[in-house]
Amino acid sequence: MRRLSGIAIERLKGVGEKRGELFRRLGVETAWDLLRFYPRDYQDWSQTFPIDEAPRDQLCVVRAKVISAPSMTRVKGGKLLFRLAVTDGDTDLHLTFFNNRYIDRLLLPGKTYLFRGKLGFSAGKYSMTMPEFAAEEKAHGITPVYSSTQGLSSRQIGAAVASALGLMPEAPEDPLPQALREEYQLCHLGYALKNVHFPRSQEDLDIARRRLVFQEFLVLQLGLTMIKSGRREQNLHRIPERYPEDFAALLPFRLTGAQQRAIAQGVKDMAGNSPMNRLIQGDVGSGKTAVAAALCWVTAKAGWQAALMAPTEILAGQHYQSLEGILGPAGLRCALLTGGVSAGEHKRIHQGLAAGEIDLVIGTHALISQKVAFRDLALVITDEQHRFGVNQRVALAQKGASPHLLVMSATPIPRTLALMAYGDLDISVLDELPPGRRPVETYLIGPDKRERAFRYIQKHLDQGRQGYIVCPLIENDESGMMSVNEYAQLVRRALPAGKIGVLHGKMKPGEKESIMKSFAEGQIQLLVATTVVEVGVDVPNAAIMMIENAERYGLSQLHQLRGRIGRGEHQSTCILVSDYNSPESLRRLNLFKSTNDGFAIADADLKFRGPGDFFGQRQHGLPQLKIADMFGDMGLLKEAQRCARRVFRRGALETKEYGALRQEIQELFSKTGDMVAL
Ligand code: ADP
Ligand code: MG
Repeated sequence: MRRLSGIAIERLKGVGEKRGELFRRLGVETAWDLLRFYPRDYQDWSQTFPIDEAPRDQLCVVRAKVISAPSMTRVKGGKLLFRLAVTDGDTDLHLTFFNNRYIDRLLLPGKTYLFRGKLGFSAGKYSMTMPEFAAEEKAHGITPVYSSTQGLSSRQIGAAVASALGLMPEAPEDPLPQALREEYQLCHLGYALKNVHFPRSQEDLDIARRRLVFQEFLVLQLGLTMIKSGRREQNLHRIPERYPEDFAALLPFRLTGAQQRAIAQGVKDMAGNSPMNRLIQGDVGSGKTAVAAALCWVTAKAGWQAALMAPTEILAGQHYQSLEGILGPAGLRCALLTGGVSAGEHKRIHQGLAAGEIDLVIGTHALISQKVAFRDLALVITDEQHRFGVNQRVALAQKGASPHLLVMSATPIPRTLALMAYGDLDISVLDELPPGRRPVETYLIGPDKRERAFRYIQKHLDQGRQGYIVCPLIENDESGMMSVNEYAQLVRRALPAGKIGVLHGKMKPGEKESIMKSFAEGQIQLLVATTVVEVGVDVPNAAIMMIENAERYGLSQLHQLRGRIGRGEHQSTCILVSDYNSPESLRRLNLFKSTNDGFAIADADLKFRGPGDFFGQRQHGLPQLKIADMFGDMGLLKEAQRCARRVFRRGALETKEYGALRQEIQELFSKTGDMVAL
């Protein structure tokens, strides 16, 4: 393939300077790039139907002979309308084309063509509007559709690909060694490239695609594994413990089995040869904080410091309260550092950290500030890390000498994807909720039922419960949606007896804090808020939540929101308000209604919205995939991951056989900014 990557795109037959420029705009610079510019779709001409047996109202192909020359009419707006009739011998079909003034030269009476379009049937007549067509002898089974650009059509790209394929040697060098191809039943690269562009049948296309997708996943996974192993530094903070038996006595509850396992894994990491690099994944309410507390505990006992960074002040405040509540009585010196604390307090904490007089500091990104220095930072924890960029995590870690890293995430993503998205971390899953939780009941209503919902909420408030109403916008915008404050007015009118508070992201930190405090203490019964409540807020007496414009959120985000209730002993209710303007929103919301299982919801979100949502900030570190689809090709992703593990364990990557594959990995990762630690 080295030879093809030496051929500039302009030099290909039929391309030239001008078109070459357009190809370059698509990211295609050489003949080799072009072979890897895979079709975005295919048109299948291989299956044709008799007209009266073809499926109605969906794309299909019929073979028919032109029986009348096109008739032309001029319609409103000067458009040209052509009509003509074709027949398959038994049934006639009426075709309509707009504005194609060459149609009478392209479709000749007496000649047979394949027509591809949606078949309509009414008043005893079959019809097709603007079908694609090709002369019978020219319509090949399956034809590629490329992402085209202005001035460069899919057809022209296809022609260029064909000439590039002509230059490819019969058996080009294959980066996948033969033994591996045989083991995983993958075709040769040459065959794959030919058939991914011009397959003779669906089967050939599947074989070709399978091989290319597999290789793409394999290269990505091997690259991530190499980065991970390359980062293994010396563990400078080796804790002496096997398991912190004394920790359990500090808690007001018994740890779940999942929590104990996660703690054991973390402690084992911290006692190992290299620092811990671990992700704890657990659904909302699974008790991640206690796991973090255990690891802070062993860190402080060993005489070092720990820092926990949370994405919002509210959350940092709550973490501070619960961690200080658990660890304070045992003698740990804890501090809260956020933008909201006074200058004097800042100074005191800075000094305490530098002198080693504070064992555990909890805060927002204020922790990354230059002024913050530690005496010996050994453990860095980030909560809800999808809100942080990788860089922020790194910035905090750099305040210590190779500290242990713990990342807590409440976004349950399927393990296979986690391996990809967090390729450089080990993973613990908290797959068990603390006992006694009752699943939240969820209802979906239209805006016309809002009044009734308010009465329902009032009833719960009367019984001593608290609740949230989530509305999406802070400012009035053109969409006509209400601002939080306007909305709160409406709520106050509807619930005149209720004590109502308002919370949104644009409030001053101090204001937010005091509102949250009143809510936690029960002075506020109902909190009208934007999604600031999404992350981690914990008020066990809150048992009701109403979410306005529910269709605007991803399912995982809704799940996070709903996780704010159902945290205490009371049966909790979540009401989604939506005029679900599309069948798809209705499907999504109904699915959400039917389950409380975060992983099932994550799966569904992935199906509806694709993996982008999960990777968030992290995705920018991952190379772009050319052909593989993380969700659609999940089965292959798993196989490739198994294969990557084996290749890596055997040390095969170092061998000559794998030289070409190693080069692929290097090429892929050299294009992605901050992960180039190969
Ligand atoms: P999350 O994983 O969402 O961060 P938290 O750590 O905030 O969950 O825990 C949620 C609630 O459950 C807290 O009120 C916490 O005190 C409680 N909790 C945690 N672990 C247990 C347990 N093993 N048994 C009973 N309650 C627990
Ligand atoms: Mg939490």
